[in-house]
Amino acid sequence: MIYLDHNATTPIAPAVREAMLPTLDGLFGNPSSIHEAGRLARNAIDQARRDVASFVNVHARQVIFTGSGTEAHNLALKGVALRRGKGRILISAIEHSSIRGAARDLAGLGFGVEEIPVTGTGVVEPAEVRRRLADDVILVSVMTANNETGVLQDIAAIARDVRAAGAVMHTDAVQAAGKCALDFSALGVQLLSLSAHKLYGPKGVGALVTDGSVDLSAQVSGGGQEAGLRAGTENVPGIVGFGAACALAGQSLDARSERSRELRDRFEQRLREKFDATVFGNTAPRLGNTSQFALADMDGETLQMGLDRHGIAVSTGSACHSKSTEASHVLLAMGVPVETARGAIRASFGAGNTQADVDALLAALADVRRVLPTGAVGW
Ligand code: PLP
Repeated sequence: MIYLDHNATTPIAPAVREAMLPTLDGLFGNPSSIHEAGRLARNAIDQARRDVASFVNVHARQVIFTGSGTEAHNLALKGVALRRGKGRILISAIEHSSIRGAARDLAGLGFGVEEIPVTGTGVVEPAEVRRRLADDVILVSVMTANNETGVLQDIAAIARDVRAAGAVMHTDAVQAAGKCALDFSALGVQLLSLSAHKLYGPKGVGALVTDGSVDLSAQVSGGGQEAGLRAGTENVPGIVGFGAACALAGQSLDARSERSRELRDRFEQRLREKFDATVFGNTAPRLGNTSQFALADMDGETLQMGLDRHGIAVSTGSACHSKSTEASHVLLAMGVPVETARGAIRASFGAGNTQADVDALLAALADVRRVLPTGAVGW
């Protein structure tokens, strides 16, 4: 299989696996136990916390481990809103379903939720956020990088206005982490979410990074783990793997992202030469590994299935959308016509990819295009 779906998830890196193995074997203690077995597990978590913290340039005490990026988002949005009790929440129109779902829950509880529009290239203009800020806005959430298009946002500029208006600024940095440099203080946010499985770590572990100034209401109550904000015996293997993945990403970020960008750029250049293709968000600052595109008159799901038959894994957008025939809300928010949006597929390059994978993708696209009649949906 040629795997070109690294924005959906990544394989566990060998160094991460090595770091995790002892936690599946001898290092089995409960980190809350005070005997030696417990202390060893606690030490492993402490080291992982330091590794995650230094990856985003914060102190270890600012990292709260969660069960996923989705859970980190829920802790951020619901944690702020339920503590404040009332108010308005602004999210961008292109947020991942994990933010949209948490916001929808809060709307159901009576909080006002408003979407900030984006430009045709998928950019959230700071002025659009500023125009909506008012005394009753308690929280603003804008993603650092979009999972479908890879488009990057000017989080620092948005955060400056949000904080000046007295609201809390959260960013979903799940896709940016490991693909571009991330510095919590430089972004100027109060809350930032991460997920291990997007950066060659294990699934089922994430983190909410906080500046310590925000009073959060715990979303999982119980034994008081994670500073009382996320109870439950810690996922030691997952957390240790997350720490190792962050340490690795810190060391290999430049080489990794440069390589992915080269592959992506060469792919897009040849895509345009060979096909009548639209590439989404390509004039905005973007993650170097991501290419979301559509071929004229081709249905995205059909194209994806055709590539799968050639042993090539790509996505129709967000992995959560892959079973749905709905057009991407991200592309619709960018003003892409619904028929074009239905044609979208996403190739996201990663550490193991080579030029031969790009060649194979282009050849397979040509073959699927040749075999399938224009406008064909399904096999
Ligand atoms: N945010 C973005 C932008 C994502 O792409 C994803 C995963 O697809 C998530 C959040 C959810 O992270 P997790 O899978 O750890 O819940």
